[in-house]
Formats: sequence, C-alpha cells, structure tokens
Amino acid sequence: MRMFDYARAADEADAASRGQAEGAKFIAGGTNLLDLMKLEIEAPEVLVDISRLAMTEVAETADGSLSIGALVPNADLAANALVRARYPMLSRALLAGASPQLRNKATTGGNLLQRTRCVYFYEPASACNKRKPGSGCPAIDGFNRNCAVLGTSDACIAAHPSDMAVAMRALDAVVSVRGADGAKRDIAMADFHLEPGDTPQIETVLEPGDLITHVTLPPATSARQTYRKVRDRASYAFALVSIGASLSVQDGKIAAARIAFGGIGTVPWRDAEVEAMLVGEAPSAALFGMAADRLLADATGHGHNDFKIALTRRLMVGTLSALAEGKLGEEVQA
Ligand SMILES: Cc1cc2nc3c(=O)[nH]c(=O)nc-3n(C[C@H](O)[C@H](O)[C@H](O)COP(=O)(O)OP(=O)(O)OC[C@H]3O[C@@H](n4cnc5c(N)ncnc54)[C@H](O)[C@@H]3O)c2cc1C
Ligand code: SF4
Repeated sequence: MRMFDYARAADEADAASRGQAEGAKFIAGGTNLLDLMKLEIEAPEVLVDISRLAMTEVAETADGSLSIGALVPNADLAANALVRARYPMLSRALLAGASPQLRNKATTGGNLLQRTRCVYFYEPASACNKRKPGSGCPAIDGFNRNCAVLGTSDACIAAHPSDMAVAMRALDAVVSVRGADGAKRDIAMADFHLEPGDTPQIETVLEPGDLITHVTLPPATSARQTYRKVRDRASYAFALVSIGASLSVQDGKIAAARIAFGGIGTVPWRDAEVEAMLVGEAPSAALFGMAADRLLADATGHGHNDFKIALTRRLMVGTLSALAEGKLGEEVQA
C-alpha cells in the first residue's frame, strides 16, 4: 500500500474543505475504499475521515419525507421502524446486501459511491478503461457474467453493484451534497449516477470535495412494495438481477408503478416508459410481459451475461404478478 496522510474532519465544512485538496478522498465505513487502496486501485494522498461527523440521524421532516444522514449504517437504516413501515423495499434491499458485519460499517453515502465489481476492475494487471482510461475493456470479449446489459458503451459494460441504490432510485430519493465552497445542492437519484459513455471513470455528477450530507425519501405513497435479488449464493453475493418494485392497484387497475433494477444496468436502472404503460391497465402476466419486453428492447448481452435478459423478464413478470395478487411484499399505508 502506498503512503498517505490521514486527517479527521472536525465538521462538515472542514470535511468539504479538506476534500477538495488534490488527491483527497473521504472515508466513511471504509468497506469499499480500503479494499481498493490495498490493491492500489484507489491511491488517495489524503484520507479525510468523516466517520465521526454527526450525519447519523434518520428523521421525518415536516412534509412527511424521511431524511437519512449520510453516515447512517446500512444495518441501522434497514432496521429503522419508519423505513420498515413506509419504505419496506429499501429495508429489504439493504438486508439483501453484503453481510451483517459489513452492513454495520457500510454507510448510506458510501453505499451510493461504491465501485463496480467487474473482475477486471479489481485486477490491476489487466486493462480496464474505468481504472485506467484508454487501456481497453477486456470484459466485452472476456468474462462478463456479472456485467450489465443496459446502458453499456464500447468503453465499459460494468454493472452498478448497489442494492440500496436500486430501492432509492425506485423511491425517487434525493441526494443532498455540500460542496467545497460551502454551497448545498440537491441531486435527484435519477441524475446522480452516470452511464459510462466514453468516460467510464466518471461515475457520478459529484465534484471534488462534494460531501454527501443526507438522502431524502419523498413521503410514502399507498402501495405494495418489495425487493427481490437473484444471486449465485443465498447471501454475501452481489445481484445477478434484482428488482425493487412498488405497485398500487385500485378498483382492479394499476394506479401507480415504480420499478427499478440492479445487476442489469451500468447505473441503478429505471424506465419511465415501462411504468407509464402499466398505469390504468388491469394487472396481468401478459401486460407485465409486454412491459418487460419494452424494458429489455435495447438490452445487449456479451456472452456470459446473455442469461440476464431472460432472467430479468421472468423476475419482473413474477414479482409484479405476485405484488398485484397480494402474495408478495408489504402493504404501505400512506
Ligand atoms: C464482501 C463484500 C460484499 C458486499 N456485498 C454487497 C451487496 O451484496 N450489495 C451491496 O449493495 N453492496 C455490497 N457490498 C458493498 C458495500 O455495501 C459497500 O462497500 C458499502 O456500502 C460502502 O460504504 P462505506 O461507508 O464503507 O464506504 P467507503 O468504503 O468508506 O467509501 C466508499 C466511497 O464513497 C466515498 N464516500 C463515502 N461517504 C461519503 C460521503 N458522505 N460523501 C462523499 N463521498 C463519500 C468514499 O470517498 C469512497 O470513494 C459488499 C462489500 C463487500 C466488501
Ligand atoms: S467493464 Fe468497465 S470496469 Fe470492467 S473491464 Fe471493462 S472498463 Fe473495466
């Protein structure tokens, strides 16, 4: 491991100011960053420790939204009574991730910024456009079982690895950031992560020194919600395909649908057109199948991950059918 300086941030302003220095990096739970530093994939010159800052509260706001501090551990967020009652999809997504020990350390902000699990990204001896821009993408013609089928480019096909972010995407979360100049701004989850395009090394819209302070979930709406994850092992494995879904059925017709996916996209994946084609229709496997076909119309497999396309269709149809029939998930009372 390379030498680096360590500084513990005194408060948010101190963190944001230290974070803008050349080569500075925040550390929260450290469950992703330290692994990357050991492999020298990340080599910060200054590690700014934000883990003792007071961004640890989960609180209801005046308008009924839920504000989640950036340092709330994944385990605490999953167990929070308000999250379990109003956003059960999020609680389930968090519990589907990693292991109990990791969830105790992993934080809300760090989870959003965790990096891909593409095997070539973690192998410093191999080329990788995300790790070393311009060096190539061996995953495209190589081992790509865990890579994405949507949002890919000629430069990178890595899947976004987070479970939590999928639920937050479906729930229309908003990420709040404090910039190095002290200015605060809000970023919709829909705009937060970037597809790879020609610059796969740039993964979010954050600027150097931007500190995530909290994430806000809009007020809960009446619906039935769940999160399901298909993976190679029953625990301690990243998603091959996952779905976070919320469905409201009134008088036999779908009144609202929010559906996001993990494992298939280069970013947490959601498609507004797919949701729109469900609203006002009577739920049926045929309808959900047509919606899945729309979702996957532009999906491209690269060999080892071709199976994800058929798997996503089955997972989507099965999950939405079971939600509509009240056989899966939890009812949210707004
Ligand atoms: C073995 C293993 C299995 C796992 N399985 C899963 C899984 O199944 N599903 C899943 O979703 N995840 C999984 N994870 C990933 C885990 O959820 C992440 O490592 C964790 O959420 C990262 O949070 P952290 O606080 O430890 O981040 P850190 O490692 O501290 O930081 C990660 C990144 O976020 C930045 N950062 C952290 N906080 C802030 C902030 N407030 N503002 C700005 N930047 C910030 C850091 O600079 C760094 O770049 C797994 C991890 C491991 C090691
Ligand atoms: S898919 Fe992306 S992360 Fe994986 S090798 Fe290609 S460029 Fe690197």
